[in-house]
Amino acid sequence: MALYRIPLKQHVGAPCVEVIKIGDKVLRGQCIAEPNGLGAKIHSSVTGKVINITDEFMEIEGEIINKEDYVKIKKCKSISETAYEAGIVGAGGAGFPAYIKLKSEIPDGVVIANCVECEPILNHNIKLLEENPEIVIKGLRYAMEATKAPKGYIAIKAKNQAAISSLRKVIGNAKDIEVKELKDIYPMGEERAIIHEIFGTWLTPEQLPIEAKSVVMNGETLANLTRAVEDLKPVIDKDITVGGKLKSGKEANVFFQVPIGTPISILIDKCGGIDGDYGEVVIGGPYTGKAGDIHNSVVTKISGGAIVTIPLPEYKGPIGLLVCACGADEVRLRDIAEKMKSEVVAVTKCKNAVEVRGVNKCLTPGDCPGQVQGVMHLKKNGAKRILISNCSDCTNTVMCCAPNMGVPVYHHTDHIFRTVGHELTRRLPMEEKK
Ligand code: SF4
Repeated sequence: MALYRIPLKQHVGAPCVEVIKIGDKVLRGQCIAEPNGLGAKIHSSVTGKVINITDEFMEIEGEIINKEDYVKIKKCKSISETAYEAGIVGAGGAGFPAYIKLKSEIPDGVVIANCVECEPILNHNIKLLEENPEIVIKGLRYAMEATKAPKGYIAIKAKNQAAISSLRKVIGNAKDIEVKELKDIYPMGEERAIIHEIFGTWLTPEQLPIEAKSVVMNGETLANLTRAVEDLKPVIDKDITVGGKLKSGKEANVFFQVPIGTPISILIDKCGGIDGDYGEVVIGGPYTGKAGDIHNSVVTKISGGAIVTIPLPEYKGPIGLLVCACGADEVRLRDIAEKMKSEVVAVTKCKNAVEVRGVNKCLTPGDCPGQVQGVMHLKKNGAKRILISNCSDCTNTVMCCAPNMGVPVYHHTDHIFRTVGHELTRRLPMEEKK
């Protein structure tokens, strides 16, 4: 028997409301919480007994005898209704309920499969495409059918040639689906950045992809749509990458279809456990992930990864923060600064970052507006070093000015990338600048 902790909020919108009570017996696949307004149904990933319910989660003690056994969702009249019944949300981290996107009608538009896997180290999306491209392509076709879009794109980084070749083999001579190869920079997976690469125009931060007659859905979300349509399977399992300072080595470990609610610590143990002292367990990817708690973090519908890092560097002096709209926010940068034992003396944000409905959004994700002013502001306010969370292009600009001003630079991903021997976010190679 194991304990599965299933959060009531794994999506954009209010937390769901449980439809079970402590002591109930539940089956794998059974709906256990309903949306409260905007949201998505939650189903039990395990057969067992409900032993605890709080405002945040439901705990079920149970086991999975056979992963193929689950309570099927009801047969629905439409693909969007199927997505609603299955509780499908954006699996890339956004958590936006998929049925809303699938209710769009774009008879002269496109569906874009976001297979960019923007975050380095995370590898499960690309591995899925290498091993099972059909499941994503079928999902793309279901999404095209639902939205009446005549054209589909698969956006993927050009470096992933094995996955691209698997996709092309399945697409064959079909004209309605096209693979769009993109540069390896961050944040190339941002929806508006992808639309810019395909159509050459920028949506404003307030605009949604639908205003470019586009629906953008993550590759794993599309795979979940295929499972829901063909197998009537609700979202009860998640693909995830686990990496970092592990006894199994620095290579990323991909786990396919892990039951939601599984403790992250169990996956780390499957990789041999943590190798000695560590700094953080980052839940998510290096750029947008947050420090998790090894004892309480669990797999959710939107978990991208878990990365165990080396201890953070120490700098016991005045530091300035330069905040990006697409990478770490100010809260995360302050968390890192505190762990570095630094004193935050100034904060500024990239001038491309504008506030939309209470959150920072970038005007042109990945296209630098210039960072000299921001670095000068931090230095003028007493920062002797700076901690930045900028995208690849903006970090390149920071590196063109900060060292000349005598200001050393940390990027918030440094300790994560040093852990696995990945190149640090600094200067862009010439070919990626074009
Ligand atoms: S342009 Fe600025 S806000 Fe936009 S992604 Fe780059 S650093 Fe972030």
